[in-house]
Amino acid sequence: MAPDFWFSPLALALLGLCVGSFLNVVAYRLPKVLERQWWLDVAQSQLGDAEAWQRVSGHKGSLPAAFGQSAKTIADTLEALPPLSLSRPRSRCPHCGHVLRWHENLPLLGWLRLKGRCSACGAAISGRYPLVELATGVLFAACGWKFGAQAQTLLWCAAIALMVAMALIDLDTTYLPDDLTLPLIGLGLLGAGLGWTGTRLEDAAWGAFAGYGALWLLAFSYKKIRGVDGMGEGDFKLLAGLGALLGWQLLPSIVLLASAVGAAVGIGLIAFGGHKREVPIPFGPYLVGGGIAAIFFGQPLTRLWFPTL
Ligand SMILES: [Zn+2]
Repeated sequence: MAPDFWFSPLALALLGLCVGSFLNVVAYRLPKVLERQWWLDVAQSQLGDAEAWQRVSGHKGSLPAAFGQSAKTIADTLEALPPLSLSRPRSRCPHCGHVLRWHENLPLLGWLRLKGRCSACGAAISGRYPLVELATGVLFAACGWKFGAQAQTLLWCAAIALMVAMALIDLDTTYLPDDLTLPLIGLGLLGAGLGWTGTRLEDAAWGAFAGYGALWLLAFSYKKIRGVDGMGEGDFKLLAGLGALLGWQLLPSIVLLASAVGAAVGIGLIAFGGHKREVPIPFGPYLVGGGIAAIFFGQPLTRLWFPTL
């Protein structure tokens, strides 16, 4: 088939459904894989670091024996757990352990055919899975429509895939892993360097710098005034990635759009969800919402503050 077909909105929509299915797996497993890795790091490096212990304690002696024993117990316990990675084990029902058959695992269709229930135990399967698949499919198709049938369009799809994964993980854990935010910065700089995103390299570099700096400054001031952390470093890196992708000129639009998305969701939560005030609301999903909106509608909005662009 002609290359035009492979980058058409229809083909990208199908690709997006499959990628969305993978993003569900990433959102479910990456935080667990990382947490396991942190435990191992504590066991293998921190608890075995005699020099760090000497710096902390001020003693010249060796590590307390209890440290070594704890390290060994932690490492052994972790290694006894069943292996976990993005590809292993196969997807299964969290309630009964039923391993999903290939047709139950089909993006969107699998869930619809099962009517949202596990075929073995009948437990409800979250509607978030098909929703993420559908949203990714729609966003990929929108990239095809907006950027045309060319290879560059895949870079925008990749950026959106990273952002969707970040939004889901931030929503679940209020944590934005470097494994996702740093590649977004890299993708933005690479896309600008190759001339694929239409962002000049210097605008991308300033975008990354200003995106990180603006939120850092905001969080720093908030902490000085209120005495609590309002935002995490992951948010700074996410806005740095969006700045690298879209250029510094779009940062005000992104933050404005993120605030609009935040306000809309906030009103929705109050109206339907009864959100408790003390529970921190992660900022990442709003930045992702603002960033995705800016990819598609940012330029006309940006001309409002920078009419010469
Ligand atoms: Zn089940």
